[in-house]
Amino acid sequence: MKLNQHPSGRHFLQIPGPSPVPDRILRAISLPTIDHRGPEFGALGLKLLAGLRQIFQTQHPVVIYPASGTGAWEAALVNTLSPGDAVLMYETGHFAALWHKLAQRLGLAPELLGDSGSDDTGLPISWRRGVQAELIEQRLRADPSHAIKAVCVVHNETSTGVTSDIAAVRRAIDAASHPALLLVDSISGLASADYRHDEWGVDVTVSGSQKGLMLPPGISFNALSPKAIEASKHARCAKSFWAWDEILELNKTGYWPYTPSTNLLYGLNESLEMLLEQGLPSVLARHQRWAEGVRAAVRAWGLAIQCTEPARLSPVLTGVVMPAGIDADRVRRLIHERFDLSLGTGLGKVKGRMFRIGHLGDCNELTLIATLAGCEMGLKLSGVDLSGSGVLAAMDYFAAHPTPGAA
Ligand SMILES: *Cc1c(COP(=O)(O)O)cnc(C)c1O
Repeated sequence: MKLNQHPSGRHFLQIPGPSPVPDRILRAISLPTIDHRGPEFGALGLKLLAGLRQIFQTQHPVVIYPASGTGAWEAALVNTLSPGDAVLMYETGHFAALWHKLAQRLGLAPELLGDSGSDDTGLPISWRRGVQAELIEQRLRADPSHAIKAVCVVHNETSTGVTSDIAAVRRAIDAASHPALLLVDSISGLASADYRHDEWGVDVTVSGSQKGLMLPPGISFNALSPKAIEASKHARCAKSFWAWDEILELNKTGYWPYTPSTNLLYGLNESLEMLLEQGLPSVLARHQRWAEGVRAAVRAWGLAIQCTEPARLSPVLTGVVMPAGIDADRVRRLIHERFDLSLGTGLGKVKGRMFRIGHLGDCNELTLIATLAGCEMGLKLSGVDLSGSGVLAAMDYFAAHPTPGAA
């Protein structure tokens, strides 16, 4: 589709980020830009920083960067670590692998854990499961000199649709009596999947705007712990723009050391109001219900879900594995061309093997049923042999599981 040809109806942006942005947020972003050193701005800044603490479930500071999630990944590492530090990472998928590459490029010494084998469908085993916390415990027990300075894991692996049990990773670190910091990427988990920065003992949580917070891309976050702030005072990786110290100092009055993304912050203000008005428990329950409906459809089609661990199925997105011989990207392109519906591509090691359906952001049951209808038509047109109608299965699921409190 050419960009200058306006199609009728709305484009279905069902990729797992950027997620569809609610009109209420788009309208807030369109308001006039104000003086970022003026009196109104400080009040907005303080309100946002307090609201974010509720979303991350933390009493401690949250840093906002005018950057994509990748910037906040870098910020988490350079603020807490020194050149050459050993870092333990875990390969749950493409995003975990990218964070590992970023750590290498920064001059750290990251090690990537995970099962390197493939299952009988040829898919990498560790890309279908969450972090196996016992492997982390074993590895930390084998580090009596405490050379490993940080453990880095991805909470919701957006390339696969698999979540990891962060509390179990914390327990593994504690069971090994190891002082390593726990750094977690919840770029796509926050505000869609259950996430508790303080309760789970996370030292730095990295997140972004364009997933569960329903904002356009462009801002990202580091939620901190007192231990992370202490580590930042001794960390020797070069940093200036990413350094927490000056930001934390100015944030005390609601300002930043540089020009913040004023209009995206208007959007964040609206997003926080929407999420907090609704209440996190109902926001999380809504994503669980959406995910169940979508998975009911995939099962009715007779197709495999990328995640093989039932307890780790993502409430944010579902990875749909294609039968042998079907190129997932060809199916995805056909669906885009015919039905103006965007689905997530298979990334890295699963390229061409699967596509991803996002169920986050400005969605509801009917938009998801329409999304599934686009998928079902596209799968049939691509010659995929379906065992039944996923659309009917999702309709049955949603009809039988109304939103709590709905009439
Ligand atoms: C989206 C995403 C990223 C990358 O964020 P950008 O904003 O594209 O830089 C990293 N990790 C996860 C888990 C993500 O979902």
